[in-house]
Amino acid sequence: MKVAIKEDILKEEDRIGARNREVLHKHGVTAFNLIGSPGAGKTSLIEAAYRQLLGKAKIGVIEGDLASDKDTVRLKKLGLEALQINTGRGCHLSPGMVEEALSDIPLDLIDILIIENVGNLVCPVSFHLGEEAKIGLVSVAEGDDKPTKYPLLFREAAVVILNKIDLIPYTDFSREAFYQGLRVINPTIPVIELSCRTGEGVGEWGEWLIGYCQNLYERMKPENGN
Ligand code: MG
Ligand code: ZN
Repeated sequence: MKVAIKEDILKEEDRIGARNREVLHKHGVTAFNLIGSPGAGKTSLIEAAYRQLLGKAKIGVIEGDLASDKDTVRLKKLGLEALQINTGRGCHLSPGMVEEALSDIPLDLIDILIIENVGNLVCPVSFHLGEEAKIGLVSVAEGDDKPTKYPLLFREAAVVILNKIDLIPYTDFSREAFYQGLRVINPTIPVIELSCRTGEGVGEWGEWLIGYCQNLYERMKPENGN
């Protein structure tokens, strides 16, 4: 009985997520669900994307945090459209929270929506918020065993970002162990190594975002002559 109720709730969540995606499509917005641990550099990665895509695409952000609007203030200073969701005790964003936020974001003014999920590698993976793709972010400081310990994210994400590579010489992080663990979980997932601090690799991150949106647009375009 209990199990059945839980499944119903999940189905309802999925319906809201699908509705969010429709709303985003209608406004020509491609959304990404950014998932990573606290301190991995999620907000820094969004700042880097903004700088890389200046003049090419406009980014809007939904910020999920338990408390505070620190990251939203930080992003707004740069000139991004950013909206804060405080989840209180909630350890992930739900499709319903995003649905509410969407009505407060000027969707016609943006091309890409990055949803920064609550810092957590576990339950955010289980909810479809309306995004086209999940982005899995890990940093060198967290160690090289994250794909092995949190396989679901690395199975479902469209890309893995490895941040803080400037710290590799100062840690025990093993690239070999990281890739070995990752390839067992997901043999084909692309990995972008970068450092938001030094700027190394961020160009590739910007190109991946633009490339993903262009591919999606091509796939959605009706066949010529139809
Ligand atoms: Mg943040
Ligand atoms: Zn949660």
